[in-house]
Amino acid sequence: MPHDDPDHPHALLPPDPALRVKALETILTRKGLIDPAALDEIIDTYQNKIGPQNGARVVARAWIDPDFRKALLADATPVVADLGFYGRQGEHIVAVENTPDLHNMVVCTLCSCYPWPLLGIPPGWYKSDAYRARAAREPRKVLAEFGVTLPSETAVRVWDSTAEIRYLVLPMRPAGTEGLGEDDLAALVTRDCMIGTGLPKEPS
Ligand code: FE
Repeated sequence: MPHDDPDHPHALLPPDPALRVKALETILTRKGLIDPAALDEIIDTYQNKIGPQNGARVVARAWIDPDFRKALLADATPVVADLGFYGRQGEHIVAVENTPDLHNMVVCTLCSCYPWPLLGIPPGWYKSDAYRARAAREPRKVLAEFGVTLPSETAVRVWDSTAEIRYLVLPMRPAGTEGLGEDDLAALVTRDCMIGTGLPKEPS
């Protein structure tokens, strides 16, 4: 393999992905193919202005509004678009509901497909080789490493994201939250519970 040969020019590429991205960005900028200011704007938008708080809003609404929940599960894309959550990597959103019998978990085995308009930028572990390889093969073990232990009668279903479909897990509403409004409920919804690698927080 040429890439394994230390004398091959490709072997001089920086091993750190961040450096490789920087190199790529420099080349594309020099060729006039991208505008770094526009890139910064996109990253800032998805990192700071858009984030899991959007998805949390959707989940909280689904917990208190049965019609909304039904519509969300039937066809999530237009429902979340109505709330203003649409755009890059959010063209086809599918919501999957956790129940006492079924726990859903999301991965992208190929790369890092993720519902950006709802959850922002994917966390590093979501893009890691280990998570992508192991989520489908040994989901319970992976869940345990995230601190999630499910009853043995709860089945685990792993959804593999694609360029076409991005998933949002609708977690179960925690017990003891009957009196809470939408804002307080949304505060219990973590990013990981919408990927399926976590559970919502308990009310304090
Ligand atoms: Fe992907």
